[in-house]
Amino acid sequence: MTTEVPDEHPRSESLRTRHRIEDGVDAGLTHRQGLIAEGRGEAFDYLLGERTTESAERAERAAAAHLLLADCPVLSVNGNAAALVPDEIVDLADAVEAAIEANLFNRTDERIDAIADHLRAHGAEGVKGRRADARIPGLTSERAKVASDGIHAADVVLVPLEDGDRAEALSAMDKTEIVVDLNPLSRSPQVAAVPVIDNLVRAMPNIAAHARELAGRPDDCERAIENFDREAALEAAEETIRSGELD
Ligand code: ATP
Ligand code: MG
Repeated sequence: MTTEVPDEHPRSESLRTRHRIEDGVDAGLTHRQGLIAEGRGEAFDYLLGERTTESAERAERAAAAHLLLADCPVLSVNGNAAALVPDEIVDLADAVEAAIEANLFNRTDERIDAIADHLRAHGAEGVKGRRADARIPGLTSERAKVASDGIHAADVVLVPLEDGDRAEALSAMDKTEIVVDLNPLSRSPQVAAVPVIDNLVRAMPNIAAHARELAGRPDDCERAIENFDREAALEAAEETIRSGELD
């Protein structure tokens, strides 16, 4: 059960998000490490002003454009994403016709099944990941496992809060990688073609909204991709965090 958070509490949104991660751990969706990741994310989000910056908005538009133009787009889902944004994942998959794959750093079949069931309960039609019959080259053990008809075959992959090693190994596979992460200094956004420095809770519905607007407009998709500068986006986010000017 989600703990009640009064709306007038100044940090109500952030507290609600935190409780969703707690509930995710209780429901077997989210690893305990996910609580630590949430805490790190909250600190960065606080310094970003808990809003989507202009630069993140451009990244979200570029992300939507890449997903729409892809032959085989895949949304990778981990325990934090499943707990925080199940409806939004299903909606984005629908908007860009992407496959969904449950893919975990701390992989167990139980947690893959729990995430797949949870996403299906939120309307997902098929969730890949249980049959992880391919590997990401350069990684060892469980961390390398992916579905051959999912992430392994993808040309564009969206990964929320990905671990740095895996993000690097995926981009080395010549995939266009979109990483959503609140820390612009983390390796994962640093290696992404499209680093989205924003909270997943805001980023996922924003990407879907851009996708619905850009659908059927390939020239505008190309323009959104051209207008996005990954280095500038990382720098802008770092500058916002370091300057500490919250409005
Ligand atoms: P590093 O990349 O700095 O070496 P790490 O990525 O292994 O470390 P974690 O604690 O696993 O360290 O990282 C979790 C990442 O997820 C953090 O960068 C944090 O900012 C980010 N994060 C957590 N919650 C969210 C969220 N809701 N939306 C976007 N990013 C988030
Ligand atoms: Mg990281």
